[in-house]
Amino acid sequence: MRVRFAPSPTGYLHVGGARTALFNWLYARKHGGSFLLRIEDTDRTRSTTESTRAIFDGLDWLGLDWDEDVVYQGANLERHRRDAMALLATGGAYRCFCTSADLDARRAEAVAQKGAFRYDRRCDRLDPAEVERRVQAGEPYAIRFRVPDGTTAWRDMVHGEIAFANGELDDLVILRSDGTPIYNLAVVSDDIAMRITHVMRGDDHVSNTPKQILLYRALGAPPPVFAHFPMIHGTDGKKLSKRHGATAVGDYRHLGILPDAMCNFLALLGWSPGGDREVMSRAELLDAFGEAGFLAKASVFDPAKLEWMNGQHMARMPLAELTPIVGAALVAAGLATEADLASRGPAWVNRLVDLLRVRARTVVELVHQALPYLVDAVEYDPASVAKQWKDAGATRRLLAASRETLAGLAAWEAAPMEEAMRSLAAREGVGAGKLLQPLRVALTGLAASPGIFDVLMLLGRDASLRRIDTALAHPYLATTSA
Ligand code: GLU
Repeated sequence: MRVRFAPSPTGYLHVGGARTALFNWLYARKHGGSFLLRIEDTDRTRSTTESTRAIFDGLDWLGLDWDEDVVYQGANLERHRRDAMALLATGGAYRCFCTSADLDARRAEAVAQKGAFRYDRRCDRLDPAEVERRVQAGEPYAIRFRVPDGTTAWRDMVHGEIAFANGELDDLVILRSDGTPIYNLAVVSDDIAMRITHVMRGDDHVSNTPKQILLYRALGAPPPVFAHFPMIHGTDGKKLSKRHGATAVGDYRHLGILPDAMCNFLALLGWSPGGDREVMSRAELLDAFGEAGFLAKASVFDPAKLEWMNGQHMARMPLAELTPIVGAALVAAGLATEADLASRGPAWVNRLVDLLRVRARTVVELVHQALPYLVDAVEYDPASVAKQWKDAGATRRLLAASRETLAGLAAWEAAPMEEAMRSLAAREGVGAGKLLQPLRVALTGLAASPGIFDVLMLLGRDASLRRIDTALAHPYLATTSA
């Protein structure tokens, strides 16, 4: 089995393209086939090297590795021409001398009469001697494929039987008068040369498929198996577009989505493992993936669900994988240097990531929440201060008592710390929350954080006591009389 992903390098790698790449990759890896990459750069005016780069980067990030060398369609122009000439020689195609001005005029006329424009095959009826004379005279011509009578049908892996009456297909130009191939010819010529067995792509190509099947037959090659994946819609049911927010795979990378979560999410756009199974590792995807789960109806791209799924992946993945990703993001965000992290030690960084990951949906969120543990000066969130330090007099007294209790501990360990704080609460005649919530704000600046004793352990003795001192000096507590 040989499959391919064949993007046109005319923009970034968008979500739909990534889904197509992923499905081909999963199918190939699952069945021990080859997954090939072909850059369809025949449109010289729209193709860019930056876009080709973005496709490579996107695939790399998603972990979709391809086999063999990348094929650049533009390098195969000679073969495309040869194939067109072969069709001319065997009578499967004919020369068409109609100029684009002629064709435009006839198309306008058809539209005016509210009819559909069909090429009327007038050049197919030219006398061979006249054709010869016009060729000799150097008159430019295109090569048109002669669509035979009948119907063209295939069993689509997604949609089942699809049939087109050939009468609905125009005799298509396959080679322009400037010698450049038309998309349908280039694709078929390349797919034959690359020995592609399964063509799996978006639904937007369904109308090309009958033409391509006819070209395969005319070129004497067996058509591959086809699968057309459903369109991707936004949550409003409209075709996914930039209006719906980020549609470039690279954007999600910068939003702190993990590649495995992105693959998991994309896999469920047009495929289902059955039941209500959703969160799946790459290995689980590979295990469950197959045509039995292909869905024919449009799927919905819901960014909120992607974030949720990412949170699930972060919570489940081994820390040995997540911590380096977070570490790199902390450094990139300027919250720590490699040296800072090294000096804290791997166990500390692991602990930080482990404590924060349950509350974060993305790496970016996690990095944001890590701030209080990495910087010297806490930023007090005004809403948290107003809520938890509301009774400033009592807060000041309880914070001071907490400081004294913590400072008096023989060892900075979670169990004795908890015991001491609980007995302090009992002595003060307050619930533990009354003591610990203001302390949480003092330590992190925020009303929500991991468990307070975990926070104290993460910060360590010196930083914890220093932060309580800073809180006691905070204008909110220092200037309000008890
Ligand atoms: N280059 C085409 C596209 O970007 C895909 C061709 C194909 O998969 O057959 O839509």
